[in-house]
Parts: sequence; C-alpha cells; structure tokens
Amino acid sequence: MLNISQKTINSKISCNSVGLHSGANVVMTLAPADINSGIVFRRIDVEVGKNEIKASYNNVVATNLGTTLANEFGVRVATIEHLMAAIWGCGIDNLIVELNAEEVPIMDGSSAPFVFLIECAGINMQVESRRFIEVTKKIRVEDGDKFIELTPAKEFSLDLHIDFNHKHIANQKFDYHTSLSSFKNDISRARTFCFQSEIEQMHKLGLAKGGSLKNAIVVGDEGIVNEDGLRYADEFVRHKTLDFLGDMYLAGHYIIGHFSASKAGHGINNKMLHEIFANQEAWRLV
Ligand SMILES: [Zn+2]
Repeated sequence: MLNISQKTINSKISCNSVGLHSGANVVMTLAPADINSGIVFRRIDVEVGKNEIKASYNNVVATNLGTTLANEFGVRVATIEHLMAAIWGCGIDNLIVELNAEEVPIMDGSSAPFVFLIECAGINMQVESRRFIEVTKKIRVEDGDKFIELTPAKEFSLDLHIDFNHKHIANQKFDYHTSLSSFKNDISRARTFCFQSEIEQMHKLGLAKGGSLKNAIVVGDEGIVNEDGLRYADEFVRHKTLDFLGDMYLAGHYIIGHFSASKAGHGINNKMLHEIFANQEAWRLV
C-alpha cells in the first residue's frame, strides 16, 4: 500500500491580485499548517473566532461561476477552485490560506501562479502518513445531460469531456493519470474562459468586475479575443479538468479511483462529493 507522508509548505509566502468577481485587490498569504489539519481559509479582515473556513465539500454554499465556501457564521470565501487545484497538484495536505477579502485572487486565471508560489515556499514532509479515500464501489451522479462516475482503480485518474456546442470550443476530452500526467505541465497553465456574449450580462449582475484579458480567455464569434491566443490547443477542457480537481479536493483527502465526467461544473462536482460521503460503504480511508 502507498505510504506517503503528509506535506505542508516550508514558510509563509504572499501574493496579490484582483478578485475575479469582486474586482477588489486581495492579498493572500499561504502558511504552513499542522498534520491532519487540512486546508483552512482564514479571513484576516474578520473577527478572530469567526474567521476560519475549512476547505470542505460540506461548506460549499454557492456554485455559480465558481465555488464559494462559508462557515457557520456566514463568513465566505469565493473562487477557491484554482487555488485548491494547485494545492492538490503540489501534493499539499495541510495549509492555512490567509485572505484580507472574500475572494481568492484570480492571478492570470489559471493555477500556475499558485504552483509557483508553493514551489517558492518549498514543500515540507511531515511525520505522519497521508490517508486516502480508496473507492471500492461505483458511485454516480447525474444532472440532466451531465454526469460524474467514480469507480475503483489502482491510482487516481480522470477522463473529462466537454461539449459547449460552440464552433470555437465544441467537443473536447482530456485524460489525466497520476503516473502519466503532470499537473504542473499539463493542467496548471489552463486559464478560465468566458463567452464575449455573456460579459455584459455578468456585469449587469455585478459579476466578473475584476475580469479582463489578463485573467481569462474571452471567446468571441470570430474566435479567441486574447491577442496571444491559447496556451494549449485544448485549453478549455484542461481548465475544466483543473476546476474538477480543485473542487474534488474539497473531499479533504486525495482519492484513489477513476473519475469519468461529462459536462461537469461546480454544481455537479459538489453533488458528487455529497454522494460520496452519503455512500460510506463505497469507499474506505486507507
Ligand atoms: Zn475555473
């Protein structure tokens, strides 16, 4: 059986950028955390005692255009998924994420700046073994034409399919295998995206105030609006894979199993986590 030690970072490290939806400038500091403490968000602009929010599927309160968590006092933290994906991809188990606002900074719209930050801080092996969720029976959720299925496998793997019915995106599929893929090289640089036609509506709703061509791919009728084009030919499905990995890490543990997902999004991702924890006989902690 796998015996991997838990990991945190070596030292505190900070960055700042705008929040994608709030448009506010946010300072974020990553700090080392104790064994078995998991990933915890700490709002330094909120009173101590009410300001910590555990990165857990159970704390998800909104899934429209990003994953938002809240604690029992209603203190929120939004757009956590790209950071969570980087934490997952770097193999970090325990971490404190300090923020001076309600939203994780968007950086360039991908996970790459967060991976860079974690690598700069350095990774610290802790003297306690990691515990994995090992899937023993099939678990499946559906939502209209979307589905996610989780089946037993020797290691973590994922195949994800998207179909936007748009001439510049349409059908894309991506396979991720722990032993064959590199989160940093294959996934982390894939940016979030939106359709030019939706921007006005999002602004009317007070969303995406911090959005720009510096932190999102904009897809117009004539093609990609960003001057430099795409970072990967299939950047869209890679970004959806990134979102999926970040959302699934709200399980609180690394998962050993194979995911198959079609048209997945933050809503069904969270539904899947609730289904996993409602089916305790379909997995074990090892
Ligand atoms: Zn995303």
